[in-house]
Amino acid sequence: MRIFSGIQPTGRKHVGNYIGAIRQYVEGQDRGDPAIYCIVDLHAISVAWDPAALRSNLYDTTAILLAAGLDPERCILFRQSDVREHTELTWYLSALTAHGDLNRMHQFKEKSARQRELVSAALFFYPVLQAADVLAYKAGEVPVGEDQRQHVELMREIARRFNERFGQILVEPEHRIPEIGARIMDLQEPTNKMATTGGTEQGTVYVLDEPGAITKKVRSAVTDSGTEVRRGEGKEGIANLIEVLSVARGSAPEEIEAEFAGSGYGDFKGAVAEAVVEFLAPVRERYTALRPDEESLEHALGVGAEKAREIAAGTLAEVRAAIGIGSA
Ligand code: ATP
Ligand code: MG
Repeated sequence: MRIFSGIQPTGRKHVGNYIGAIRQYVEGQDRGDPAIYCIVDLHAISVAWDPAALRSNLYDTTAILLAAGLDPERCILFRQSDVREHTELTWYLSALTAHGDLNRMHQFKEKSARQRELVSAALFFYPVLQAADVLAYKAGEVPVGEDQRQHVELMREIARRFNERFGQILVEPEHRIPEIGARIMDLQEPTNKMATTGGTEQGTVYVLDEPGAITKKVRSAVTDSGTEVRRGEGKEGIANLIEVLSVARGSAPEEIEAEFAGSGYGDFKGAVAEAVVEFLAPVRERYTALRPDEESLEHALGVGAEKAREIAAGTLAEVRAAIGIGSA
């Protein structure tokens, strides 16, 4: 099974990214043939950006991924902009993408509403570039969080349309969304997903947060006026913490509900904070060791880009030939 997923170089990745996506990447390395992970700097410029910060954030994200357990020997880890085939394929696929479909994308609606100055065409085109990312590798599986379900559905539709018209060349990928932790919520606004763009600062736990900061954020998480540690209607805040604890400890949500039956929210939050601190500590430690050596990070990305380019170039040659672009 060929696995592909992308992650934005927003530097400080949060615990939602870690639980919903990065954890799956690490696990996929041994199943993927190969597992391909891409740091999507081209997606990052769909909203306002600072060039120097983008470059630095890209190293942050690379180091976080390596610290989380990605091993360049066991997966292909690279920077999107190093493989130009992504942008070329984006254009070809755009010719097969319905404008109306892009208009329906939740992510575009949410992110465009938040832009203060420019709603860029890139933000609208984001799902086409994302489709090109995955389809260039003919990946069968795309590990993502729940928020990316619609985008994966769209790339399937694009692949289907392409194949119907030009022959069986592309692969319709399946999403892989984790059963628990697919949509970690903002701790301050538990009806919104924890997010890099648009989340609250106090409600977002970053992978690199110090133990003190993590504890403070978890302890001040918004809950409800009840007393029971269980999932249910109107209990989004508690349900979210149950999921986080479930993943951090590797135990089922039901076990957590049973364990904390009769406990107060204070004790429960204390346990969540402690587990999250422990869960993230090894990643933060390894990150601190890896991040300063930018040359090594560049080297790892360069090796990955070479392997990625080889696969993508093959697909692009087939695509060009099929659609009548370039010499026969
Ligand atoms: P942005 O808000 O700018 O889109 P992001 O926080 O969504 O940033 P991305 O790099 O776009 O970060 O997402 C990387 C991966 O993390 C994707 O697979 C996405 O589905 C997943 N993800 C993002 N937020 C969450 C969340 N709150 N819970 C679980 N998974 C998430
Ligand atoms: Mg996102």
